[in-house]
Amino acid sequence: MPLLSVSDLKTHYKSRDGLLRAVDGIDLVVERGETVGLVGESGCGKSTLGKTVLRLVDPTAGRIEFKGEDITVLDQRSLQRVRRSIQMIFQDPYASLNPRQTIGEILEAPLVVHRVGDRAERRQIIANIVAKVGLPAESINRYPHEFSGGQRQRIGIARALLLNPELIVCDEPVSALDLSIQAQILNLLVEMKKEFGLSYLFISHDLSVVRYFADRVMVMYLGRIVESADNATLWSDPRHPYTRALMEAVPDPSRPRQAAPLGGDLPSPSDIPLGCRFHTRCPLATDLCRADEPEFRAIAPGHQVACHFADRIN
Ligand code: SF4
Ligand code: MG
Repeated sequence: MPLLSVSDLKTHYKSRDGLLRAVDGIDLVVERGETVGLVGESGCGKSTLGKTVLRLVDPTAGRIEFKGEDITVLDQRSLQRVRRSIQMIFQDPYASLNPRQTIGEILEAPLVVHRVGDRAERRQIIANIVAKVGLPAESINRYPHEFSGGQRQRIGIARALLLNPELIVCDEPVSALDLSIQAQILNLLVEMKKEFGLSYLFISHDLSVVRYFADRVMVMYLGRIVESADNATLWSDPRHPYTRALMEAVPDPSRPRQAAPLGGDLPSPSDIPLGCRFHTRCPLATDLCRADEPEFRAIAPGHQVACHFADRIN
């Protein structure tokens, strides 16, 4: 049984512009110990998908199973139990750190909510986690503004690890950081994964970040997955024109240029093109693409693509 299994998930919102189909029919599985990278441009619905998996946002349709339990139907009280096991790391931890609380107080709060240990035991847990994420012990007496961006992300990671989760949804955890700090935080996430036996759903707009440590990569476009493959296969044999366009944006001197960089803007999720939703930006689009939405189908074991011409592209 997979750790997380999502089927035909939809998260639609009403807005001034009409119905926003942010997540528009997603199937996704995360196995135990796996890191699944979810990649796409900003605005493609990946953060909404991440939040829906944690039920921070309610889905419009579909099903979310965690360890075989349907969590789509759980009320807030029952969700509390599940939320111990699924945590989230955000792009900007600062926004979610109370500026008037010390790091010690911030880290103690989830333990109190989930009734973990007495005061002394909680202090021990916090001291251990603070050391594990590479922060000095005295950090617990300091306030969020006293830390750099990279250190704050370490605090965000510490908070996510406190309750011994099994799955962590990482939403652009390094996007706001300098390149050298990005590598440190990614290394920390890799270490923590081994140490705590974690699985990650790792969301990023940056394919090169996902390449660094995902086992499998899913490419998302306007609310749907358009390509899914293991990391090596995706890089050696990308079949969706959108995947190829994203790769063009990643500097790699060893790879010959294969396609033109992505042009045009991402259409609004309130106005998703008919037929293939990528056809307005696809260099290979034909009349068929404008009329019929391609099926998401396997072209090889473990490699699925939503493109009419996936077999012909190479
Ligand atoms: Fe491009 Fe057509 Fe494939 Fe869509 S189905 S990605 S428009 S070639
Ligand atoms: Mg986002």
